[in-house]
Amino acid sequence: MINSTPKTIFSSAAGRVNLIGEHTDYNGGFVLPIGIPQRTSVRLTPQNSRQVRIKSLNMKVDDGHFEYELGKERATKHWADYIQGVTAILAKEGFLLQGFDAEIQSDVPMGSGLSSSAALEVSLMRALREAFNLKLDDVSLARLGQKVENDFVGARVGIMDQMAASLADQEAALFLDTRNFVYERVALPKGCELLVINSGVSHQNAHGAPGANYNTRRSECESACAQLKIHELRDLGLEDLPKLDTLPEVIKRRARHVITENARVLAAVEIMKEAKPGAVEKLGKLFYESHVSQRDDYTVSVPEIDLLVELAIKDADVFGARLTGGGFGGSIVVLTKEGKAEAVGQRILQAYKLQGNKSHPTVLVP
Ligand code: ADP
Ligand code: MG
Repeated sequence: MINSTPKTIFSSAAGRVNLIGEHTDYNGGFVLPIGIPQRTSVRLTPQNSRQVRIKSLNMKVDDGHFEYELGKERATKHWADYIQGVTAILAKEGFLLQGFDAEIQSDVPMGSGLSSSAALEVSLMRALREAFNLKLDDVSLARLGQKVENDFVGARVGIMDQMAASLADQEAALFLDTRNFVYERVALPKGCELLVINSGVSHQNAHGAPGANYNTRRSECESACAQLKIHELRDLGLEDLPKLDTLPEVIKRRARHVITENARVLAAVEIMKEAKPGAVEKLGKLFYESHVSQRDDYTVSVPEIDLLVELAIKDADVFGARLTGGGFGGSIVVLTKEGKAEAVGQRILQAYKLQGNKSHPTVLVP
């Protein structure tokens, strides 16, 4: 029986910053996200009807409301697709819902590589789980969130963001093997802290520019697999790099990024776990190598991001920096000396301003 308690429910989910392991999750590989202080909150009141009325306080007033009937969800390339997608996918999976009113508010910046979309899906699903007593564990909830983006919204994202929104926190990074959903928490070594700068250049995973978007990169990886006759790029290690020589140049570069990036995640986790002297320097070096690979092989960076990364690594209190998230804009994550992140962030912003760039970066963490 459907629980129709008309009690208002509050739920939330955090954004995330991925420390390393970019574009590996839809290739069966490894990722290392950590929660950020910015969150998406939902206030939800179940209704005795099939009507859903939603409001996002992050949207302009005339675009901030949406109403539909359960069972009549239709994707329209609107932010409400993420909400309609949740109710459509839950119903498809056999979960019984009633109508509801929900208000959404978030301080996770949208399209900035910090996973506002997964924070939205996970916070809404948490509210629905409580409102309608859905039997959903945290991993299943994350997997349904991914289905929302893949099957309803039209963004062919991997599983990292939803797993991070559902399972990660700010205390330790979530080392996740996306092939089998095995995860463990790994803390940063002593002597460092994280800085996140939003470049102010935003992307849209679902509807990016033709040729230079998330879905194109995913297709390029599939093409590499088909030509190499393998299931996923995860099946290859560094020792297999010579095999890529048979591929067309662009596809070869995409595959090389994924293979070397997986190796960098494993190296980073080992460094973090061992926590030996010199760990932070080694970790910083991996961050920058990951950036170069994203910039040159995967070509998901933009000039504003490259400039921010270069300014960061020139700073004496920085161990490393890289583009984080899906790319084509978004944010950088910087590994700084402990207690220095705030000051480093301000120095980077100042230096960036002096170069006369159009975008307006902001420091998000700490
Ligand atoms: P990211 O997840 O990196 O922030 P995406 O392109 O995956 O970027 O998702 C951003 C989209 O998610 C926005 O364009 C919007 O449609 C939707 N979204 C995220 N947060 C909100 C919110 N608080 N209110 C309304 N829509 C949201
Ligand atoms: Mg997203």
